[in-house]
Amino acid sequence: MSNEMIACSKEIAGFGKLSIYIQGITERIQVLRERIKSTTSLKAHFLWMNDAELDANMIANAKKNYAHAWKCYRCGETKNPPAFHRRTYALTYQTNPHYNRQRVSEATLINGSAGFRDAAHVYVPKLGRIRCKGSRKMLARVFSMQSVRIGTMTVMKDAGGDYFLSLQLALDEPFVPSLPEAVSTIGIDLNLKNFYVDSNGRRVDNPVYIQRTKRRVTRAQHVLSRKARGCRRQHIPLCNGVRYQAQRRLVARLKQKIKRQRQDFLHVQTMNLIKNHETIVAEQLDIRKLVHLRRCTKAIYEASWRTFLDFLEYKAKRYRRTFVKVNPAYTTQQCSTCGYVLPTGQRLQLSDRQWQCPSCHVLHDRDRNAACNILQRGLASLIR
Ligand SMILES: [Zn+2]
Repeated sequence: MSNEMIACSKEIAGFGKLSIYIQGITERIQVLRERIKSTTSLKAHFLWMNDAELDANMIANAKKNYAHAWKCYRCGETKNPPAFHRRTYALTYQTNPHYNRQRVSEATLINGSAGFRDAAHVYVPKLGRIRCKGSRKMLARVFSMQSVRIGTMTVMKDAGGDYFLSLQLALDEPFVPSLPEAVSTIGIDLNLKNFYVDSNGRRVDNPVYIQRTKRRVTRAQHVLSRKARGCRRQHIPLCNGVRYQAQRRLVARLKQKIKRQRQDFLHVQTMNLIKNHETIVAEQLDIRKLVHLRRCTKAIYEASWRTFLDFLEYKAKRYRRTFVKVNPAYTTQQCSTCGYVLPTGQRLQLSDRQWQCPSCHVLHDRDRNAACNILQRGLASLIR
């Protein structure tokens, strides 16, 4: 759907590069512009969109998302304009419930044209009444709130073949309860050896269970490639290979599992930090530069530092805490007690875990020292 609109935009852009306007081309641009703008002409051109089994809101939502993607590109939020999407095994579409116009103030989870019918059933247009399963605690909390409305409903099928329904909810008051006040400040140094070390000397390790799941994925992928070879030998297309498809779903489920395990770990860690500290200082990371710099690309990506910092940022905003990012240059090479920076010849290597400052003779733990430096820089930038 969005690919169709991207094709139209690309064709217009291609014409834009021509300097002479010819009557035929101007007309063609008119047609394409009209097609992006109005659903009727879009439907007239792409006949499959007229299928009665399709949700009416689906096209409107896809158009809205497409327009939003352009808006993000124009104001610099994203680097590239909307691009073609490859067809994958994961599918998704969006729909909305409609509420009676006079009764928007009385809108709840239950009385919209789509939405919950009771705690265990959801009504989705065209799909009907569906039994649903979710975190009971979460459902109970949402149901206990007054005047919660449903915004967008997203129906997803992931690569493993599982179906999900994701609801965007609106409420007049904040969803999360505010946290008790904290006074402490903390600096964190992200490194490859552990997950992070904070300025109090507390180490958080990378979780072992993710490594275990990763090994299972590797093995399952070997089996998958063997099944793919088998299909090729018998000249069966991969989409018809029953055993290949079963194995592909298994691999997809395992990958999904790793993703969830990592997200859970990051949520627990960030929530811990936000709960216990008023000010949190971390280093500003440019992952792309880091990856060029060091040779441990895979480990850096897998540590998902970026997601960790993003989580910290949005949670700090949500719970009204202070989160600062500082320039990480020389945080490892500087003494946090006296500020002495090691000269070029004496720089610490990745293997040096401990060192003594040549100026004030304090013995430092490498990572804790860096965390202390990060904290000091963050506090200094707050005062300024
Ligand atoms: Zn020193």
